[in-house]
Amino acid sequence: MSLLSLRNVETYYGPVMAIRGITLTVDEGQIVALLGANGAGKSTVLKTISGIIEPQKGVIEFMGRNIRSMVPDRIARLGIAHVPEGREVFPFLSVENNLKMGAFSRRGTMIKREIKRDIEMVYGYFPALKELAHQQAALLSGGEQQMLAIGRGLMLRPKLMLLDEPSLGLSPMLVKEIGSIITRLNKEQSVTILLVEQNAKMALALSDFGYVLELGRIVMEDDSKRLASAPDIQEFYLGMKDEGIRGRRRWKQRKTWR
Ligand code: ATP
Repeated sequence: MSLLSLRNVETYYGPVMAIRGITLTVDEGQIVALLGANGAGKSTVLKTISGIIEPQKGVIEFMGRNIRSMVPDRIARLGIAHVPEGREVFPFLSVENNLKMGAFSRRGTMIKREIKRDIEMVYGYFPALKELAHQQAALLSGGEQQMLAIGRGLMLRPKLMLLDEPSLGLSPMLVKEIGSIITRLNKEQSVTILLVEQNAKMALALSDFGYVLELGRIVMEDDSKRLASAPDIQEFYLGMKDEGIRGRRRWKQRKTWR
């Protein structure tokens, strides 16, 4: 069943059209990858879904509800956690208080106990954070901040997580670790994931389905295994061939892509 769907979505920055009519679907339980070069519009797609930027056109449905034009706070309460590029943790708060902030949308009598249990759940996935519970977030390493940003998103108990470049700036070992945690969260916590990555190898290995974005348009979409073996993806995103300019032209001229 489709959890999230975008139809013909267009988003502008002032007069500049950054997203040019995007249509995509994320089914419940899936990990879906959104690939593309710098500036292709990947982050803008996530910001449009989470309500940070309002699209000019199109339909965005989450669990059958039109969420286009809703404010970010309301969208988060419906169950969409956005983990932005660059992490954006609260630098002056401790690790634990950052996690508590992630539970902002939850109210009720059982809430304190629930939040405590969920903080322990986050520490279960990221034991390093438990050691650093009282440390100021600004003092964490890049990898620890990434873990904290994902942990804070989890505190919302989301149905859908929008992960923007979780591998950015991390060592290969940490990239592997974050990758395996993303898979576990998907399986164990039933979190559906829309993953934006420039690291196509990681993203295609983790995901069920992938979309390739170029200049604000989806130019290719397929099952991730098939995408990973597509010659053009191997050439331009997985660095497995190098045909330089000639290859680049072929990529641009392909007629089969939308
Ligand atoms: P990156 O991996 O570099 O973040 P991206 O694929 O996520 O790239 P976006 O950040 O979504 O790309 O940017 C898409 C386009 O919109 C780019 O041309 C970018 O320059 C432009 N853009 C992004 N943010 C703004 C902004 N705040 N104001 C104006 N233009 C913007």
